[in-house]
Amino acid sequence: MKRLNTFPKGGIHPRDCKEASCDKVIQNASMSNTAVVPLSQHIGAPAECLVKKGDIVEEGQLLGKSGGFVSANIHSPVPGEVKEIKNIFLPNGISTPAVVIEMQGEFSRLGKAVPSIPWEGMSVEELTAKVSEMGIVGQGGATFPTHVKLAIPKGKTCEIFIINAVECEPYLTSDHRVMMEKGREVLEGIRIIQKILSPSRTVIGIEANKMDAVEHLDTLIKQSGLNMEVMPLQVKYPQGAEKNLIKAVTGKEVPSGKLPLELGVINANVGTCLSIYEAVVEDKPVIERVVTVSGGAIKNPSNLKARIGTSFRTLIEDCGGFSEEPAKIVAGGPMMGFTVYDLDTPVTKGTSGILALTDKEIKAARQTACLSCGRCLSSCPMGVNPTKIFKLIDNNMIDEAAEAGLMDCVECGSCAFMCPAHIPLVQGFRTGKKILRKNAMKKAGK
Ligand code: SF4
Ligand code: SF4
Repeated sequence: MKRLNTFPKGGIHPRDCKEASCDKVIQNASMSNTAVVPLSQHIGAPAECLVKKGDIVEEGQLLGKSGGFVSANIHSPVPGEVKEIKNIFLPNGISTPAVVIEMQGEFSRLGKAVPSIPWEGMSVEELTAKVSEMGIVGQGGATFPTHVKLAIPKGKTCEIFIINAVECEPYLTSDHRVMMEKGREVLEGIRIIQKILSPSRTVIGIEANKMDAVEHLDTLIKQSGLNMEVMPLQVKYPQGAEKNLIKAVTGKEVPSGKLPLELGVINANVGTCLSIYEAVVEDKPVIERVVTVSGGAIKNPSNLKARIGTSFRTLIEDCGGFSEEPAKIVAGGPMMGFTVYDLDTPVTKGTSGILALTDKEIKAARQTACLSCGRCLSSCPMGVNPTKIFKLIDNNMIDEAAEAGLMDCVECGSCAFMCPAHIPLVQGFRTGKKILRKNAMKKAGK
């Protein structure tokens, strides 16, 4: 059998723990009576609020208008009355205004058949404008506004378009289910992006622990004679990190501090391709997404299609609640996700998973001093020295940490996973990056 591609440097093999939900067909989640819709669900400037207390809004109505070049529109996931605009904290620690909507009135889309819009005759500008209008952001967790990514600067071209269907984080299965259940729509979304980017080659990268998805998409592609290919990849974490996936698919390395477009590559998550299909063909903004709810403390792990703004509590109740007291709730995957302390936290465009993990699963253990074992160094896919950078940050030597490659770290958590001393390396890197950004803003007089 042909050896499958992967990235060569570092990487780890955590237990994938996907068996609890990988065969669970996507179900509609319940809706909370109140939707809490953050105006910042993306990288970049928050959206500018267009509504006020007492306003009546419709399902899909624009609540927040993109607040800058790198920003995204925010739409109402439900019809109802705006009760207040309040500040909330998201799991990543960012504070954002959020529109609180009490659900009432008629849904304009839910349960209604929508005619498909023929898009083949639309221009590249019209398609890109639609992606922007509908508030699409990268759904793999990065939440970078997609219309910005698709706007190729003059003088650059996209040679290879890569679809990130790797889903390398343990437990998460939402992308897997989307490929199995919405394969045709995903492929049409990819065709729309092909029209925008005109790449010479299009590759869907899927790890080999999802061979049913590899075969399913491959069959659909062949049946329709589409100009794209599926590439099964070795199972290795963090293959979903942009630069690792590019290395795995093309064999080329994106230079430090540069963007994939340097190599003529653009990539998009598979869930984002589905959103693009819905936006262009169904005229639907991003008002819902598929979320995996799993972990040892969840009674019935599931994949749920949830409205944006629905509370984590509602989704957990849909899964039968807790089977035991969780030691930790995580938004996203266990490697790169963020710990959540409040079950009223709302689902956002970037919520790929909600995990309720037991003590056993998080291997709760006491931190000890560094053993200088070097395991963190050999596991790092970015080739940086985690223990050295951590020590520099710990000693408040932030500029030196930056010189040692702090900003090359993609926060994949491989080093922390391998560390026998249980040193919170990633937390340290996140703190270091925050200080670095603050210092840079101070220097710029902002
Ligand atoms: S978290 Fe950063 S330093 Fe640690 S392995 Fe991942 S990229 Fe390397
Ligand atoms: S893996 Fe942990 S104990 Fe080993 S060198 Fe790195 S930080 Fe130190």
